[in-house]
Amino acid sequence: MSQHSSETEVLVVGGGPAGLAAALAAKRAGFDVIVADCNHPPIDKACGEGIMPDGLRALQQLGVRLDESQAAHFQGIRFINGSQLLEARFPDGSGLGVRRKVLHQQMAEAASRAGVRLLWNRRFTGMANGCVQLDGETFRCRWIVGADGQNSRVRRAAGLHSVGKEKVRFGMRQHYRIRPWSDFVEVHWSDCGEMYVTPVGNDAVCVALISARKSAPFDESLRHFPVLASNLRDAVPEGPPRGAITASRRLNSVHSGSVALIGEAAGSVDAITGEGLAMAFRQATALANAFVTNDLSTYATAYRKIMRLPRAMAELMLALDGRPAFRNRAFGALQARPAIFEQMLAIHTGTGSLTQVGLGNTLSFGWHLLTSERAAK
Ligand SMILES: Cc1cc2nc3c(=O)[nH]c(=O)nc-3n(C[C@H](O)[C@H](O)[C@H](O)COP(=O)(O)OP(=O)(O)OC[C@H]3O[C@@H](n4cnc5c(N)ncnc54)[C@H](O)[C@@H]3O)c2cc1C
Repeated sequence: MSQHSSETEVLVVGGGPAGLAAALAAKRAGFDVIVADCNHPPIDKACGEGIMPDGLRALQQLGVRLDESQAAHFQGIRFINGSQLLEARFPDGSGLGVRRKVLHQQMAEAASRAGVRLLWNRRFTGMANGCVQLDGETFRCRWIVGADGQNSRVRRAAGLHSVGKEKVRFGMRQHYRIRPWSDFVEVHWSDCGEMYVTPVGNDAVCVALISARKSAPFDESLRHFPVLASNLRDAVPEGPPRGAITASRRLNSVHSGSVALIGEAAGSVDAITGEGLAMAFRQATALANAFVTNDLSTYATAYRKIMRLPRAMAELMLALDGRPAFRNRAFGALQARPAIFEQMLAIHTGTGSLTQVGLGNTLSFGWHLLTSERAAK
């Protein structure tokens, strides 16, 4: 145990959802933990604000139970592409729509209750020889966790910024005051990107726009989504829209020496998967296990496993973005075989296996895509 306030076993740089999850997991594993963030709670960020069922389970394993009176459950996912509609319920449990500030406040309180030392308004300025500099003050630690988001400075300082693969899109979020019209997360597709709607309370929804086009005004973009625009006709926007980039980024390594990266600092999948938070919560437990065994290579192995399916799903969904003819055919094929969409959602949220989809289903889906392509020519 540390003897001095400037010493700790685990120092987490970045107190967003990933950093707080890492701190909670490390604390539960018996370590002395400090979290430092250059902002202070509740920290906001552009996000679709949906936590998938597997993410909620992972959060509960960290001892966090969110106050459901400030959130809304959703039961499945609905894709809307013009007049085409696909939907499936989660086979096991529900997801939770929760505003980012509410999530952050509750996670920060849980970390504080668990005994994590929280240093807000403290900026990471450098590190060397097992020591971290926070606004010039030196902290000695056994493990350093980089949880400082997309533009991680810890990643750069640790020499982990070498990227295997990267694709960036632009995201924007807008809250609307309106009674949610559905208990599904709706993903609306168009030629200028996707908009998805998450209920975040009895009287509010969060709408996130994700597009390859930079800084398209939110209202202007909404015109490309007529079904959604009609649902939001009487809704009152709450505050200005908030933007962020979303990256499909694969690093060559997520650890070096005593430094490990987590959350968006460690790489990410496109926001359209809705899995960013769930992945971070699962990474947190894997990282704490690696501290226990004193071997960060076990974290790297677990990290690859956690990321495998979300990466595959992201590629699949990005293949539908910006290719309307292919998207129409894929939607048509999936409408003809709704069980495949249900099984894909089960796999996506960790309750199904690839073998469940089965060769027969895959072949018949592929055949349908092929024959509808021939018919289209
Ligand atoms: C438009 C959009 C929609 C999304 N929708 C969803 C969704 O519906 N569901 C979902 O699960 N995921 C979604 N995501 C992804 C999700 O937002 C991320 O996975 C999540 O925010 C990652 O958390 P993080 O803690 O890694 O990073 P962040 O939330 O960015 O936290 C990083 C923290 O590090 C701090 N920091 C940065 N630099 C320093 C420094 N030098 N010193 C100290 N502190 C520092 C910051 O203040 C911040 O608090 C979406 C993302 C976008 C962009």
